[in-house]
Amino acid sequence: MTSTSAGLVGRPLVQKYGGTSVSTPARIRKVAQRVAASRRHRGGVVVVVSAMGDTTDRLHSLAHQVSRRPAEREMDTLLSAGETVTAPLLAMALDDLGVAALSLSGAQAGIRTSHSHTRAHILDVVPTRVIAELKAGRTVVVAGFQGVNEALDTTTLGRGGSDTTAVALAAALEARECEINTDVKGIYTADPRIVSRARLLAGISYDEMIELAALGAQVMHPRAVEIAELYDLPVRVRGSFDDGPGTLITRSPRMEQKKRVRGIAAEEKVAKLTLIGVPDQPGIAASIFTPLSEAGISVDVIIQNVSRDGVTDLSFTVASGDLAQAETIVGRVSKKIRAAGVASDAKVAKVSIVGTGMLGQPGIAARMFKALADAGINIEMISTSEIRITCIVARDRVAEAVRALHKAYQLDQA
Ligand code: ASP
Ligand code: MG
Repeated sequence: MTSTSAGLVGRPLVQKYGGTSVSTPARIRKVAQRVAASRRHRGGVVVVVSAMGDTTDRLHSLAHQVSRRPAEREMDTLLSAGETVTAPLLAMALDDLGVAALSLSGAQAGIRTSHSHTRAHILDVVPTRVIAELKAGRTVVVAGFQGVNEALDTTTLGRGGSDTTAVALAAALEARECEINTDVKGIYTADPRIVSRARLLAGISYDEMIELAALGAQVMHPRAVEIAELYDLPVRVRGSFDDGPGTLITRSPRMEQKKRVRGIAAEEKVAKLTLIGVPDQPGIAASIFTPLSEAGISVDVIIQNVSRDGVTDLSFTVASGDLAQAETIVGRVSKKIRAAGVASDAKVAKVSIVGTGMLGQPGIAARMFKALADAGINIEMISTSEIRITCIVARDRVAEAVRALHKAYQLDQA
């Protein structure tokens, strides 16, 4: 990313406010007050905003009411309109408080992206205008989620993309910190709606946050965390209308280092597919998973059983939304490779323990399995990464599983 904040009095602060935080005019005025209070910041403040409330969903639905297959280029121009509305509204509210402010579109802020409409990637950030305005003492409000491609067409960054705008802009500006202001106070040891004793974490590592974000802790977009890690940019997740310090995401959080398991994540929108009686020979896995990947379906936990009499069962999970399409594809493959059949279970869920501290720690997995067993919860599949262990369980037992694991790892204690 092209970057130079040289010439600024200090390093700027980037603050992002999510859709719920700007869902009404009253909330936008409240956000303006928060931004005004942050202006003590020597390097100035850059604010990135999402669309108001569920605006993006509504724009999406409008498109599908006028067209059966909306063109992606037009879809991007349409969807970007949500953020295009919020940014000037916040700038006006700031102006009212006597704060010199101006709004910029993604293009004006120098967010340059790939061509791929509705899921563009940021290629470069050229924040010349942002820097000039900061130097002139103005607070800059940038429309999140949108950028511009080489053809000067508006692009969007995929759902939740305002986080990515904020982090990429912060990296390019060499910001001191990127704040993600949202409707929760930070990152918890588990979803507080499931576990009443869940604790707010003071610090967490990028890798842990990427696992938690990908596993359904809906607080921050995983791609945004990856960019932050790449540039070693500290990210703070905090409540938009809360004065607490929230959770600081860095490379190696000093706090709570002893904790081997940092948090428990659950994801309910999971389905399981099993190919029964698959001939055990080379090339079979490839013939199953290649057409799935070509259809853009990502396969998650995979288990192949030990074969008996030359046939084996092969199970894997997909996102619930992909189940119908995956069933069709796998049904076709099953006939081709002469498998015995396909079975599916739409009612499973994932529960995971995450923590960099579990690297090379024996006994961590055993404790997970024992806690689930003691709760009478059957583990259907298991998968692991270096810093995560995931079990597939029945969906109606997942909340119980989260509570049992939170207790087993004593996450309610600091
Ligand atoms: N407004 C977009 C969405 O709803 C982007 C965002 O809020 O981050 O996905
Ligand atoms: Mg979001």
